[in-house]
Amino acid sequence: MKLVMKFGGSSVANGDCMKRVAKIVSDSVNQGNRLVVVVSAQEGVTDQLLEASEEAKKGNLNYTREFIEKIKERHLNTVKDAIKNQSLKKEIESIVKSIVEEIEKVLTGIAYLGELTPKSLDYVLSFGERLSTPILCYSLLDIGLNSKFLSGKDAGIVTDSNYGEARPLMGLTKYQVKQKLEPLLDKGIIPVVTGYIASTQEGFITTLGRGGSDYSATIIGSSLNADEICIWTDVDGLMTADPKIVPSARTMPEISFQEAIEMALFGAKGLHPRALEPAMEEGIPVRIRNTFNPQNPGTLIDNKQKIKAGEIVKAVNLIKNVSLVNISGAGMVGAPGTAAKVFDVLGKNNVNVLMISQSASEANISFIIKKTCLGKAMSALEIALLGQGIVREITADEDVCIVAIVGAGMRGTPGVAARVFNAVAKKGVNVIMISQGSSELNISFAVKEKDGENAVKAIHEEFGLSK
Ligand code: ASP
Ligand code: MG
Repeated sequence: MKLVMKFGGSSVANGDCMKRVAKIVSDSVNQGNRLVVVVSAQEGVTDQLLEASEEAKKGNLNYTREFIEKIKERHLNTVKDAIKNQSLKKEIESIVKSIVEEIEKVLTGIAYLGELTPKSLDYVLSFGERLSTPILCYSLLDIGLNSKFLSGKDAGIVTDSNYGEARPLMGLTKYQVKQKLEPLLDKGIIPVVTGYIASTQEGFITTLGRGGSDYSATIIGSSLNADEICIWTDVDGLMTADPKIVPSARTMPEISFQEAIEMALFGAKGLHPRALEPAMEEGIPVRIRNTFNPQNPGTLIDNKQKIKAGEIVKAVNLIKNVSLVNISGAGMVGAPGTAAKVFDVLGKNNVNVLMISQSASEANISFIIKKTCLGKAMSALEIALLGQGIVREITADEDVCIVAIVGAGMRGTPGVAARVFNAVAKKGVNVIMISQGSSELNISFAVKEKDGENAVKAIHEEFGLSK
């Protein structure tokens, strides 16, 4: 089989982790598979780079110096623990050192300029993957596998220039990835590719958005028409609920793309929201697996909607750090274009909307956005909407969270909503806002922040998700 395997930050966090990953790769090769490996930055490194660039922007050269030492030490320690062969070790050490020197130059430049553009930030954030990827490559060489490391750019992934959240130009990308990687596979070489980073057509480094290594994996998988894309992480798969809220939550053995996308959009751990698109389009199964428990088959995401009898709700998620905005005014009744105006303003200000609802009376529109966007959204909406006789009031409620229920079996099954809201009501939880898309794959509702966990527990129990 032709497989793409992506290893997340916790899977490559240190030297022992690198060895564990190398073993997984070599076992798969020994089973006769041909592999492309995609690697995230070591756990925590992208966040540290982000912080370092903020400090550099403030001109904090002391911080930069300390940071450089820290990042060098961490990666050299990883090398020391992961790689036995002395000459390989020397080579990779010098690769790591030269990349670290480049980071130092870039951060120093930012510190002198006192300026951090989205473009330079992407450049800085790319270093996490640019360090972890060659180390994994050398860990494979160290155990006798044939391997070569490439950046996302070398592998042919081209994006638009929307730095920080770049979108792949799929036609060109598919063509280039095939051209770059297939010859390697044909020669029995394992390409090890940086996740998360790509480049514009002009060759400037871009990133695919935080958590974007998953996206890199599915982009490459769909370009090569892989048989399966494996996302290796530190949990057994997608779960029926957050086990920190519901200790009896279970790993789901199988789930459809549509359901998984709903879950990813609602922040289920370990999945980039757009990552599933390329795989879904090509019908390539994606499997979430645990590096620390490779015996477990994980969660399989595929196109076959196998709805088992009695399986209605599959998972329930809680989304925190959100705010509800309510726009009201009698003038909105029967006034076409109000909703368009509202969402246009939000879109232009780069505010993503998680949930929308408008009552049939049309006198108000409510929606939920990330808390971090609230200030920006409120002032943009006030400027655009108030004082024109249509919208009378714009209010915000920061004390909310969203409970999102996912399951393809809900479609066309009467009484699901009744069971959901009965279960929640029995716990004395008040529902503030409800929305169900016409796909019927998802019901979401907002409650007070303090009620969120109880609502999740009540639904998990009502639908017997532990069994
Ligand atoms: N290293 C990047 C991040 O932390 C990408 C990834 O891990 O998928 O967001
Ligand atoms: Mg990560």
